Amino acid sequence: MSEVERAVALDAYHAEHVVGCTRCPLGEERTQVVVGNGNPNADVMFVGEAPGYHEDRQGLPFVGAAGTLLDELLGGIGLDREEVFVANVLKCRPPGNRDPQPAEIRSCEEHLLRQVALVEPTVVCTLGNFATKLLSGRSEGITRVHGHELPIQLGERRVLLYPLFHPAAVLRNNGLRTALEADFARIPELARSTAADDAPPVPEVVPVPVPEVAVPPAASTPAPHDQLGLF
Ligand code: URA
Repeated sequence: MSEVERAVALDAYHAEHVVGCTRCPLGEERTQVVVGNGNPNADVMFVGEAPGYHEDRQGLPFVGAAGTLLDELLGGIGLDREEVFVANVLKCRPPGNRDPQPAEIRSCEEHLLRQVALVEPTVVCTLGNFATKLLSGRSEGITRVHGHELPIQLGERRVLLYPLFHPAAVLRNNGLRTALEADFARIPELARSTAADDAPPVPEVVPVPVPEVAVPPAASTPAPHDQLGLF
């Protein structure tokens, strides 16, 4: 798919299936669906938990205090929001920012998997426990697995899962900041290594046939004179 086709396909999926979603009761509580945003052709995708108050109002992911920290962390590794894609496990705000419920996660999961299938990132950075447990399919918490990349299969796509502390956790406990910054610092290297894996195979070198050149028989006696004038 070309870059333009991918952007069009993602917009179409959001418009047809996500913006008006009524798969779970959160549809009745939200101001609007927060589909996600950023570069539809990104190599690196971030998956948070769910929209909060500001995201629900503005219709955009990570625009509150956690978003400001996410921007800062991205800036620290030379990236900005236009270069990555940012989505959430839930596309609608749970009332009072409560934790996502298992039934809500199940209802919304297909939207996230379709986003991964369409954006085709090579590295998926999960922010916090909900995204990490959902996409890894494992029960270990973020404190144990942060910074440990894990190759996983998401639908048709093989990606490198990279669990990170949620920026909101760092805002509550500044002691986690050093770990989050150190984990972020590895993102460029992981993206480079997975991009190399993703690169099309080097084409086989096909030898170019060398035209046959008729070699004149060696003269049995020295030529009486140099016809080419080389000597
Ligand atoms: N926290 C999240 O997990 N997602 C957002 O979009 C904002 C805050």
